[in-house]
Amino acid sequence: MSVANHTLTLCAPAVYAVGAMRFFGRAAPLWRPLLTLALAYAAAQLVVQWTLGTEVRYAMLAGASALLFLAMTATVIQGAHTFARDLRAEMVLFAVLIGGIFALNAMKFVMVLKDGLEALDMNSRFQTVFYLYMSFLATVLAPSIIWLVLRRLTDELRAMAAHDPLTRLLNRRGMLDGLDAYFRSRTAGTAHLLIVDIDHFKRINDTYGHQIGDTVLCHVADVLRDTARQGDLACRLGGEEFVVICPDTDAEGALRLASRARMAIENSEVVTAAAPGGPIRCTVTIGISAGFAGPQELDRAMQQADAALYRGKHTGRNRIERSDDAQEIDSATESAPLATRPAH
Ligand code: GH3
Ligand code: MG
Ligand code: MG
Repeated sequence: MSVANHTLTLCAPAVYAVGAMRFFGRAAPLWRPLLTLALAYAAAQLVVQWTLGTEVRYAMLAGASALLFLAMTATVIQGAHTFARDLRAEMVLFAVLIGGIFALNAMKFVMVLKDGLEALDMNSRFQTVFYLYMSFLATVLAPSIIWLVLRRLTDELRAMAAHDPLTRLLNRRGMLDGLDAYFRSRTAGTAHLLIVDIDHFKRINDTYGHQIGDTVLCHVADVLRDTARQGDLACRLGGEEFVVICPDTDAEGALRLASRARMAIENSEVVTAAAPGGPIRCTVTIGISAGFAGPQELDRAMQQADAALYRGKHTGRNRIERSDDAQEIDSATESAPLATRPAH
């Protein structure tokens, strides 16, 4: 009976640990390792009981539990820096709580080895502290775990609501939130907006199929994400049309970013499982708005960039066009050509 009890005592936190790993999106098998642990530990107990006696078997439980909780504490601390960085405060609290169980089990291990089963006398001060701490944990841990789960889910829902599921770029809602946050800052300067539209995308779909079309969309999204600077908002508002908002950027900065993105897309290959006819490439046409200074001017900036894009499509594609309004506003500072296109 006691052998089964000790096995369950050790396996229960292991199940929690696997549950926690899965919660954080890490692949963690449950049944086979759990059965192996249970059988191996039960067998080890029988051997220890027969060869070394009851005291050592109890010490073994305290020692094994201490090691398990130490590993859990180390994983939680590592998690606070890696896979659960967004929950750092909660992870530090968990590390402290689990570290406490590790310390108590380590002490119990030493005491059982030193004083024998007397150390486990339920009236001893140590056992009182041990079980008080365990009751405290049972009370604190359940609401803490619920809090953690709810926070994670809320964060995930918020992120899902703000991102395009295919490319993971911001969607319209994410873009509006980002823009509002930027313009709320007192030091916010002028922003520019780029509309990036893939050229002849319908042909790509028709030639290679929708799935490869989706891969091309993800490729363009990756290039835009990589060429955008920190603070820029790279978004996919739908179809094969992307928007990049460049806060605190003058006309020349926006043109430079557009040139970098256009060239990077033209010069890169889309990584797909061997497509018939060799690697896939695509080009984009980009329309740039005039500068704008508040979220209420977004619609106008979109229209300006759209009109510029339309001009780019009609004058040959794979090029950058700036809004006519921008030409008036920025002509004093603009030295680069208003439309850029590579020499073929
Ligand atoms: P242009 O150079 O003038 O922009 O031509 P285009 O073919 O790129 O533009 P058009 O608007 O004619 O076609 C856009 C195509 O994009 C049509 C639509 O089926 C496809 N599309 C829209 N959303 C998606 C998507 O999520 N995945 C895929 N694979 N295709 C999409
Ligand atoms: Mg297009
Ligand atoms: Mg389009």
